[in-house]
Amino acid sequence: MIIDTHAHIFNEEVYQTYTKKSAGKINRILTLHFWINLNDIQPTKRTLEEVLSFAETKEDLFVIAAINITYSVKEQLEKIKALLENKKIVGIKMYPGYQHFYPSDEIVFPIAELCEQYNKPLIFHSGDVFDRLGTAELKYSHPIHVDSLATHYPQCTIIIAHFGFPYLMETATIVNKNKNVFTEISGTIDTPSQDIVDTYTKDLKRVFSYYPAIKQKIMFGTDYGGEHTPLNQIDSYIQLVENVFSTEEQDNVFHKLAEKLFFS
Ligand SMILES: [Zn+2]
Repeated sequence: MIIDTHAHIFNEEVYQTYTKKSAGKINRILTLHFWINLNDIQPTKRTLEEVLSFAETKEDLFVIAAINITYSVKEQLEKIKALLENKKIVGIKMYPGYQHFYPSDEIVFPIAELCEQYNKPLIFHSGDVFDRLGTAELKYSHPIHVDSLATHYPQCTIIIAHFGFPYLMETATIVNKNKNVFTEISGTIDTPSQDIVDTYTKDLKRVFSYYPAIKQKIMFGTDYGGEHTPLNQIDSYIQLVENVFSTEEQDNVFHKLAEKLFFS
């Protein structure tokens, strides 16, 4: 039983390659909306409606809505509130590095309040950026800025995506300090490389030797985006979890925590 808490599956082709590669091991997949397709040389638009109607056709696919701060947050929140109410989405994602704002900025407050109200996670893309356009800035995606928001909204569940890679230790500090902050392991193994799996294994073990308590606050995720992208690994992430966590802990990483945060 595994829940993938971080994937980008928006069409049949990618869904099929994912299903084939995961070979029945993954039971539920969260697909995280992003309003453009960054893998296109000329990025094409992708609406939330498209993502929702595709996910409707799949029993194991659940949508995380993205908020684009270029447009009216108020209008987007009205729409998202209705989707939360009707259980069409299971969380909200924001992209600070790509959009030049900090998670601690005021613009995020009403979003955190809505997440609190519906008891659904607010996810921040954190750390390294996939930036073909050359416009993203790392200072915004540094996980340190989650701390302030988490402190002011202790009832809002916050997820630092990608363990904030490469800021693993910084992410660990914030997850350890704040009861309401969690993280996941997706996105870092971007080539089929045993070397990366081994190094990531060592790095996580190192982090957990300083912060053993946060082992309970980690979730499985792949960042799978299709075979034509560098993010096409599934088994490597399963192997990573098996390397780092005991059999008992694995249940929590693979599905229990995600069930609690997204589906309860
Ligand atoms: Zn992603």
